[in-house]
Amino acid sequence: MTTTRRDLLATVLTAAGATVTASRSDAEPRNHGEGGDHQELPSDPALRTKALESVLVARGLVDRAALDTLVEVYEHEIGPRNGAQVVAHAWVDDAYRRRLLDDGTAAIRELGYGGEESEHLVVVENTDRVHNLVVCTLCSCYPWALLGLPPVWYKSAAYRSRAVIDPRGVLKEFGLELPADIEVRVWDSTAEVRYLVLPERPAGAGKLSEAELVALVTRDAMIGVSRVTLAHEARA
Ligand code: FE
Repeated sequence: MTTTRRDLLATVLTAAGATVTASRSDAEPRNHGEGGDHQELPSDPALRTKALESVLVARGLVDRAALDTLVEVYEHEIGPRNGAQVVAHAWVDDAYRRRLLDDGTAAIRELGYGGEESEHLVVVENTDRVHNLVVCTLCSCYPWALLGLPPVWYKSAAYRSRAVIDPRGVLKEFGLELPADIEVRVWDSTAEVRYLVLPERPAGAGKLSEAELVALVTRDAMIGVSRVTLAHEARA
């Protein structure tokens, strides 16, 4: 980056920061004074992003249409089907499954996935003794390259706090009641590490092709709030 570009970026970030600071000072008395749910107000990252976008667009550094295209791609083209391909491949190829568990980032790269928001991926495997659940307690870190954009509930304060405090209760609300002898492990995503759950292959799926298995795998199963069942086939 040239000195000129660095200076310009610093100016932009300072301007964005000033906008965010002003917004926060407006919001905080209402938020903390009433002890309300933080989700009722725009989150700081959202404000910061909006401010940064406005300044970058105003200075002609980014094109709003290009940003819309990027969001569109993540919403409609990069979705949970990428993750489903990874899971189904691990189910049919045990050597791949072992590579996936050993080094998730390298293994998903074999299938052409990776990059933005999935630079360091850890895959955790569900078994008949262990069930894994993924959350981001701080914000909404998520393996975008495999699952697309995170669902609204994943970003909610309720899920982020309760998934850690009462994971079995949360799973029950998603319709998944786990026997007491199954250990529940909760994984807290960060900006550095993203997690993907490798669900258990459903019983009775033995004769299905890899493509048919892909159709069974749901986004929720790869976050860990549900299991993969043959019944999912109809609504995949
Ligand atoms: Fe996060």
